[in-house]
Amino acid sequence: MLSDCKWVWQNGDLVPWVRATVHVSAHGLHYGTGVFEGIRCYKTTRGPAVFRLDAHLDRMFDSAQTYGITIPYSREELAGAVLEVIAANQFSDCYVRPIATYGSSSLGVHPGNCPVEVAILAWPWGAYLGADALEKGIHVTVSRWKKFSSLAMPATAKACGQYLNSMLAVQDAVKRGFDEALLVDEEGIIAEGSGENIFLVQNGEVLTNDERDHVLMGITRDTVITLARDLGHKVLVGPMRLEELQIADEAFFTGTAAEVTPIGSVDRKPIGNGARGPITAELQRAFFRTTSGKDQRHGNWLTYAAGRTHAEETCEASAPAETGSVNPGLAT
Ligand code: PMP
Repeated sequence: MLSDCKWVWQNGDLVPWVRATVHVSAHGLHYGTGVFEGIRCYKTTRGPAVFRLDAHLDRMFDSAQTYGITIPYSREELAGAVLEVIAANQFSDCYVRPIATYGSSSLGVHPGNCPVEVAILAWPWGAYLGADALEKGIHVTVSRWKKFSSLAMPATAKACGQYLNSMLAVQDAVKRGFDEALLVDEEGIIAEGSGENIFLVQNGEVLTNDERDHVLMGITRDTVITLARDLGHKVLVGPMRLEELQIADEAFFTGTAAEVTPIGSVDRKPIGNGARGPITAELQRAFFRTTSGKDQRHGNWLTYAAGRTHAEETCEASAPAETGSVNPGLAT
């Protein structure tokens, strides 16, 4: 739960949850001017390990660059801060949310001199689409809300305001009794879920799309493509139409929160036999063996958060510290 987050990293300091606030005049609050990441930290026999931390931070800096937001910390400082937040909260596994938004100075649409404020939250978060979803699959609807074009806002950036499109779609899907929305573009070409990339499996081949179809280039997507090729599957990348989804043998969503979630049906029509397909199951297994460190072939995707003595000391202090500072020595 979000409220399990006792310590938040904010603008260079570890602060108790209640103090991690922003002002109501913050530019980011009014216009969604900010960028963020969603990262998972997994339990391993060597302690908590952050999955693909570098890739997530690279994407965060790229998203910021897209919007002309200058993050006033280095990648190394933010990497250290992510590990520090996990240790301070004593999580063995969790979801991590770094965010950089414009703070308070003026409320013209142009952000002018608004400072860039950076925070990192972490909290335990189980299966994003429900406990049964990873095994049984989910019910998806094709949203009436179209995926915005990258000509309007670059879909490859993970920016706060862009999620209004996703929110409209998922809210409508849930209201109509579905678990998740699939968005297509104005030509009806498949884009992505409200917070996931999509894969199809047809005749033993694995298919997904890319940035040309207005999607976020998911890090889980990249992980699954790599693992599928490791397993000897052919992976094809290109546009996918709804007709192809309807006749697919299998389909699944990928995302940091959703991990590898089978799609059981689309608008109540079953995909394949309506349950998790064999290639989806194989890729799921490979994914969780990798994130848990059991399969070490991509061991460099894990950054271990154990042994963060400074943060542990901070956490053990009985009274909430006024501020805790980031120890740059933690950044490795
Ligand atoms: N598309 C959207 C719109 C998302 O929000 C996400 C989640 N970050 C993804 C795809 C999947 O990206 P990733 O695998 O990097 O989490």
